[in-house]
Amino acid sequence: MNKLSQLSVHVLPGVGEQRKKDLAELGIQTVADLLHHFPYRYEDYRVSDLSQAAHDEKVTVQGQLYGQPSVRWYGKKKSRMTAKMNVDGIHISVVWFNQAFLKEKLRPGQVFAVSGKWDRHRLQITAERTMISREEQEKLLGRLEPVYSVTQSIKMNWLRKLIYEAFVQYGREIEEILPRELRDRYKLIPRAKAMYYLHFPKGREEGLAARRRMVYEEFFLYELKIMWLRKVQRAEAPGIEHRFDEQKVREFIDSLSFPLTGAQERVVREILGDMRSKVQMNRLLQGDVGSGKTVVAAIALYANHLSGYQGALMVPTEILADQHAASLRKLLQPYGVRVVLLTGSMTSRARRDALGQIQMGLADIVVGTHALIQDPVAFRRLGLVIMDEQHRFGVKQRAMLREKGEYPDVLHMTATPIPRTLAITVFGEMDVSTIDEMPAGRQPVNTYWVKKEVWPRIIKFIQKECHKGRQAYVICPLIEESEKLDLQNAQEVFEQLTTTLAPIRVGLLHGRMTPAEKEEVMKSFAANEVQVLVSTTVVEVGVNVPNATAMVVYDADRFGLAQLHQLRGRVGRGGGASTCVLVADPKSEAGVERMRIMTETTDGFEISRRDLELRGPGDFLGVKQSGLPDFKVADLEQDGRVLEVARHDAAELVNRPDFETDSDYKPLLDYLMEAKLESINFD
Ligand code: ADP
Ligand code: MG
Repeated sequence: MNKLSQLSVHVLPGVGEQRKKDLAELGIQTVADLLHHFPYRYEDYRVSDLSQAAHDEKVTVQGQLYGQPSVRWYGKKKSRMTAKMNVDGIHISVVWFNQAFLKEKLRPGQVFAVSGKWDRHRLQITAERTMISREEQEKLLGRLEPVYSVTQSIKMNWLRKLIYEAFVQYGREIEEILPRELRDRYKLIPRAKAMYYLHFPKGREEGLAARRRMVYEEFFLYELKIMWLRKVQRAEAPGIEHRFDEQKVREFIDSLSFPLTGAQERVVREILGDMRSKVQMNRLLQGDVGSGKTVVAAIALYANHLSGYQGALMVPTEILADQHAASLRKLLQPYGVRVVLLTGSMTSRARRDALGQIQMGLADIVVGTHALIQDPVAFRRLGLVIMDEQHRFGVKQRAMLREKGEYPDVLHMTATPIPRTLAITVFGEMDVSTIDEMPAGRQPVNTYWVKKEVWPRIIKFIQKECHKGRQAYVICPLIEESEKLDLQNAQEVFEQLTTTLAPIRVGLLHGRMTPAEKEEVMKSFAANEVQVLVSTTVVEVGVNVPNATAMVVYDADRFGLAQLHQLRGRVGRGGGASTCVLVADPKSEAGVERMRIMTETTDGFEISRRDLELRGPGDFLGVKQSGLPDFKVADLEQDGRVLEVARHDAAELVNRPDFETDSDYKPLLDYLMEAKLESINFD
């Protein structure tokens, strides 16, 4: 494909300066681009069997005109023309709207073809397309006609002809790129053929074979690029070969108050394997809220400590930093591991102490917010960096922290799981570990969706929970009064609940408070001095108060599915049954659907799958993270399994000793050299 990707569309007949510009609007500059401008659907002109065709189905038939067409006019422009047609001895009628000009061309007895909607009761076709000349019938009948995305200045038929012409002139120069063994293994048709068939398939079979081949190729080339760049990068940046006593790690795991789930065991194995290897770890650990990622982090940090290195855990909020420092201390202090906290709101004295301990190597594990990556923090020997909720950190921040060690291993944790195919595509440069199993005995949170009018009943419900000794969250979307949106704001709700629920104590938490204020509220909630916490979404991430078993989300349709799922994850963390009430009068269909999904499942992967369905991959990932490659044929949802296979094949191939020398791989290497010149987004 090399040559064709350098050949301007200029070389094709009828493409002058203006046409060149028009094509560029479609992203087509070279002949290769043109050949890769695949149709997004086909118009079906295969001849139908009318005895089998369903009512209202689109059909195509060929037959003889019987008598003369008759035209009726409605005003000057509108007309209705009808004619009888003999199709294999069956007489049907054909109706044309506003195409009276065809009358001239249709002579009695003439053989023509027509496609359109079939009325089974009246034996009538409403014509959409009429093929009168013999050439047109020969060209279209029995075929699938490609339908392309076009612009105002580019007409469909012109583009079809141009693509066809490009195949006639240059089709022979389309080079195979996949090695023989892969083509043989999956019985993939040759590249040139596949590309031609995708544009001009004779039937379903050809189209499917072509698609199969191109889907594999797209995924394979994409994965190959990632695997190869990763190999190059790793050669330049050797990681730390962690050496630790596995027996001691095992003892630590066995001393936990619960056995690890199978999924936890598996991801621990994956992570420790990376740490032991001399390759720098760059791994994404995804697991649903409450699936037990923190313990996994603790195990990795312990192994890192046993290897003689310091570890860092970076989290997005101070509340979380406190919480994580506390749980790590509880778990690891008995093993002589010193955990130090470093946040922006510490007194300068405490901060100075912490910095000193980090620098002298007295701090084994440092837990902190972004303060961790600020300049004065100097580690003595940083071996492992863990980032919780990695999507909250910018690429640059991550790189800065990594630079504080000599290529420390890096583990990113996220509780916003996304389907694996999407994960390995977007975070292509990372390995992905997934905890897809919840600890035993966890009860799913009972979730209800109610209308706002039942608010008084919800207050009673909160009251009841509190009388049982439980605690509740009440989540509101905004803090400030917003008449326009008619949203209940946290302040108002707080005031209302404080009066109605007394003597039950109510707290308020929102993003405008200082870190110290927030901490105080959280602490009193955690200590059950406050029973009801009215909050904006600041509690979304990671907050852990097991005694809180009720959650009310006001204006729940204002939140996205991922966020609702995160919020709901704040309850159901203790042993008891938990309840989540979504209060919403959704105005949109999508809002209703979100409420429905939340009440139907508590599985984060299922929710993200449905979310993806609702929104499509681009929107799902948000603009910021949309590192999504533009696959022309492949579909991440539909073809997920092919992606896995292609990824595996690509990884295997780049690591072969003869990859860069065997001539069968030459086209792939050429492709990689070209790809290397393009920028690829690595942090
Ligand atoms: P995550 O960080 O994935 O949201 P956590 O690590 O906070 O989840 O775990 C949630 C709760 O489950 C914690 O109280 C933790 O001690 C507990 N837990 C973790 N793993 C297990 C397990 N294998 N069995 C039982 N409980 C577990
Ligand atoms: Mg390593």
